[in-house]
Amino acid sequence: MRAEIVTTGTELLLGQIDDTNATYLARQLRDLGIDLFFRSTVGDNEQRIAQVLEHALTRADVVIVTGGLGPTVDDVTREAVARLTGRPLVLHPELLAQIEAFFARFGTKMGDNNRRQAYLPEGCIPIENPVGTAPGFIVEDARGTIISLPGVPREMRYLMEHTVVPYLQRRMGRQEVLLTRVLRTVAVGESRIDEAIADLERSSNPTVGLSAHPGQTDVRIVAKAPTRAEAEALLDDFENRIRQRLGAAIYATGDATLEAVVAGLLQERGATLAVAETLTQGDLAQRLSPYPAVFRGGIVAPSGAGLAQVLRLPADLTPGEAGARLLAHEVRTAWDASWGLAVLEDEEERPWVAIAADLPDAQVHTRRLRYQGREYRSRVWTTTLALEFLRRLLLGLADGWAQF
Ligand code: ATP
Ligand code: MG
Repeated sequence: MRAEIVTTGTELLLGQIDDTNATYLARQLRDLGIDLFFRSTVGDNEQRIAQVLEHALTRADVVIVTGGLGPTVDDVTREAVARLTGRPLVLHPELLAQIEAFFARFGTKMGDNNRRQAYLPEGCIPIENPVGTAPGFIVEDARGTIISLPGVPREMRYLMEHTVVPYLQRRMGRQEVLLTRVLRTVAVGESRIDEAIADLERSSNPTVGLSAHPGQTDVRIVAKAPTRAEAEALLDDFENRIRQRLGAAIYATGDATLEAVVAGLLQERGATLAVAETLTQGDLAQRLSPYPAVFRGGIVAPSGAGLAQVLRLPADLTPGEAGARLLAHEVRTAWDASWGLAVLEDEEERPWVAIAADLPDAQVHTRRLRYQGREYRSRVWTTTLALEFLRRLLLGLADGWAQF
């Protein structure tokens, strides 16, 4: 099966928002094993939306279009599909009742324009939307199928997961099960991971693919089999093989974030953490704040002098390693935490990370990171590698830094 994605919205065309819907849909189609050769974006214009859809139908069996299902005048996707497929918009009373119920739940009265959302092309398959007001719909036209979903990403995803994916699977007469598992790695570059598992990446079932983010690389395994159990077995086998090669670089399977894993390790050990940071603009504290059971607190300042002042250290704190050591120790003591972590730049604006533990004779561990400056990417790298450093110390892997 061949699919195509059309996202609508003038704000997308003008670059005011990122097209995360297209990215999400592309991944879903890949996971379903459906071919995708084209993606288009079009503004809120009925005629142009109809034109793009018409073109897409010449190349694809299924076109998924998002946006323009709202109640306002610039929401014209319903009209565009109706015009293209020559079907009048007809009232779906059950959808109207649902939209009314949605408003009633929030104690507000439905506006007249919301009634428009219950008018869908004649003969379509409506897709109920329990998480918003705009229902989606599927039109099975002679030229191909148009699946129309709301633009709000949360609603679009909900309808996709609950209705459209099962619909597409049925359409493909899929007897087989497709399962995905993501192994999350950190601190080892994508190219080194690629080298280590190159042979596995050539496999056709399961398939193995990499995606890189600052400081992290995801390894995605997708297995196809007649039954769930067989697909799971394929995933298990590949996960084991990949784990043998990548070992401790894998910090989690599935959706866990690095900070959640670090917080879990601290909690298992009955340990707590305090941080002092320059360069990273509070990103470390922000990433750790959702874990109050282990995160005692953090201090943020534009320079080491600012941190030193709060911790009653000399204002001429040595930049880089020596200062970071002192800060890690002092911030731990100040919050009476079992671990203290400090990020302090040196003269070249490179971050030094120091980690102090409340252990007898514990040395303060330090690392100099490669990423310079205060740019967003550098900050993600720095906080990610600082958290990874702590994770390795918690696991007793300090010497295996950035190795498999
Ligand atoms: P609504 O009922 O909110 O009007 P809608 O189906 O009409 O929903 P749009 O008006 O096109 O959808 O978009 C609503 C909002 O959803 C947009 O303002 C934008 O923030 C977000 N959105 C729309 N399309 C996309 C997209 N492709 N990627 C990311 N966000 C999007
Ligand atoms: Mg809208």
